[in-house]
Formats: sequence, C-alpha cells, structure tokens
Amino acid sequence: YAPAMPFFLPRGAAVYRRLVEYIRNLYVDYGYQEVITPQIFDKRLFETSGHLQNYRENMYLPVTAEAIDQIAHDHAHDSEAHPALESLAQKPMNCPSHCLIFGQRKRSYRELPWRIADFGRLHRYERGGSLHGLARVRTFCQDDAHIFCTPEQMRTELESFNKLLFEVYSAFRFENVQVKLALRPEKRVGTDAMWDAAEKVLEDVLKETGVPYEVLPGEGAFYGPKLEFHITDALGRDWQLGTMQVDYALPERFDLEYVDNEGQTKRPVMLHRAILGSVERFFGVYIEHCAGKFPMWLAPEQISLLTVSEKQAEFAQQTGERLRSHGLRVLVDAGSDKLGAKIRNARNQRLPYFAVIGEQEVENNSLSVRSRDEGELGSLPIDQFIERAVAEAAWPRA
Ligand code: ZN
Repeated sequence: YAPAMPFFLPRGAAVYRRLVEYIRNLYVDYGYQEVITPQIFDKRLFETSGHLQNYRENMYLPVTAEAIDQIAHDHAHDSEAHPALESLAQKPMNCPSHCLIFGQRKRSYRELPWRIADFGRLHRYERGGSLHGLARVRTFCQDDAHIFCTPEQMRTELESFNKLLFEVYSAFRFENVQVKLALRPEKRVGTDAMWDAAEKVLEDVLKETGVPYEVLPGEGAFYGPKLEFHITDALGRDWQLGTMQVDYALPERFDLEYVDNEGQTKRPVMLHRAILGSVERFFGVYIEHCAGKFPMWLAPEQISLLTVSEKQAEFAQQTGERLRSHGLRVLVDAGSDKLGAKIRNARNQRLPYFAVIGEQEVENNSLSVRSRDEGELGSLPIDQFIERAVAEAAWPRA
C-alpha cells in the first residue's frame, strides 16, 4: 500500500519521537526556532526554487479529483497538457517554503542570523533500484534547518553548528566521523570572490575544530560549497548523515533581502544544515551501531519488572506506577509464565534494566536489578534505583 514508505510500530515510534525531541531540546540552547510548513504547494514554488526544472523526476505531483473532473469536463484531447493536471507539487525539501517565510516581509540586519528548523515530512520518488532499507526511502523527516545570515556571520554560524553536531554525535558514541569538504564545481552560480570567501570559512572552521577532513575538489553543489559528515555503520558501510551547505542561489531566486545598518538592501546567505539527516536513515544506521541496545534516554522502555509468582502482581503494578511517576518508562510482566521465560523475554528486549520481584523484594520494598550493561546489581531499595535510573535517563548534554 505504500512501497518504500516505512511504518513505525509503537516501540519504533517512541524512539523516533525521542530522537526528534532530543534535537528539539538542543535547538532551544542553540537559538533555533521551529516552524511548520505545508506538504503540498502550488507548483510555481518549485519553479522559483528550480526544483521542477532539476528535480522533477523525484517529485510527487498530486492531482485532486476536482482537477480530474475539470479535465473531463473540458474534453481535453491532450489531457497531459491540461494545466489542472500538474498544478500541485508535494515538497521534496523544506528550503523553498523557508524562503517564502523569510521573504514574507522586509527583514532587518538585526534579525540575522535567523535560524529556522523544520521536522516536516518530505516525499521523494526514488527509483526502485536506489531504495535501501530505512536508509533510502520515499518519505522521511530530517532534522532540517536553514540559517539566513550575512556573509560575515557565516564563521560564527559554522562554529556553532560544528559544536552542535559533534555534541550530538558524541551522545550517540559515533567515534569515527569522516568529514568531507566539497569545493566549487565547474558549473556554478555566484562570483569567484563569493566562493573564495565561503570555502575559506568552511576550511578555517574545520581547522579550528581540529578534526581531520578530506577535500573533494569540484564536488560542491552548483549553489555553494558544502561539508559532509559521514559515519561507518556496523557492517562497514559509509553513510552521510550531517551536512552543512552554503547557498548563494536560493536567496537570489527568491529575491530575498535585508536592510543593513546603513540602510542598504543586501542579499542574505542561506545555510542548509542537518545533523541526523534523514531521521529514518539515522534510525537504521544507529540501531545497528548500538545493536538494538538503546541508552536509557532513548530506549522505548527502560525497565521491565518481572514477578516470581502471582502473589507479587499487585506490588509490581504499584511499583510500576511509582517508577512512572518519576518519568520512567516501565513494563510490568506479572503474567503466569515461569520466571525463566520472563527473564529470557526481558533479555531479548535489550532494555537497559530488568528487575525480579519475589517475596523478599515485596517484604523489603526493594528490587533485584539486572543491568544490561553492568550485569547483576543485586537487591536495591526502590528509592535508590529510582535515583539511579532518573539520572541515567536525562537527555545527554556535553
Ligand atoms: Zn535546505
């Protein structure tokens, strides 16, 4: 019913939602504002952006029943040429709608840099041969954002972006991030002076960061140079996740302007940037990277409570509620299965913790805890476990 468009079941959706939430929380500190933009636009938007000329074969062009009826009513001989057939376009990228937002009114230099983030769902018609698990699908969301700034502000924006990106990658324990700097191609927009400046800023900031990087001459986009951040997955395959692209073309195409401190009208630079990239792809790469052992802050459930017999069912339910009231995500397995089967099942779920509740635990108000990463922790007072779990469940911060 939806080829190459993934469904996320409740546990997957819980992780997905937390990935987005994690980035969203960081945006508060890094000065981004989030917007929500439509899925379907008048196709003229993508004529202005150039997507319809350069990217049409990857776009969905929806048609309404009203349009089809109109075509029939007009008895159009050549229905393909009927304007109603192709008046809409579903967005493959967020950038054009962000240009609309920037351009909706006069902007002052005081508003720059202006960083707008969008987790909007995108659709791209990828050919059958290029599809690949969760890594290349036909619908996905990105931790996408665009920064509109002056050329002079590019440096601080790049520094801040690098800081954010490496903070995120270290939270996911990605050790070998390969950084690539793609420089001007033969066919390009903008002046040589603009390219000189943008390439220098990108390279300077990389040098400052001290990370090794590879230079790819001629591989930049026609609209500007870019940084790519690649990681190698558990199977040794290389995936691009993050990106930072300088863009001189879209502000030009959308005629975006701001007024500088001397009252002069100027063109802003647009930076396209993502850290996780496609959240779907990130999910696929990361689940292999961590072998399904999600850290406390990301795990769909953090602890499973297993009863030895029916006698502990009520205590287990109460304990579950108590942990939940501290924001913990808890499963209670108080069913009639043998303890051995419950333990096997809990291990297979790879939750950070499971705890056995028998007569003694009820008596002492404790839990017999096993940590996935540290092994047997023995009997812990419930309060002590809560303290430990809550601390571990906090969003990671550098
Ligand atoms: Zn963009």
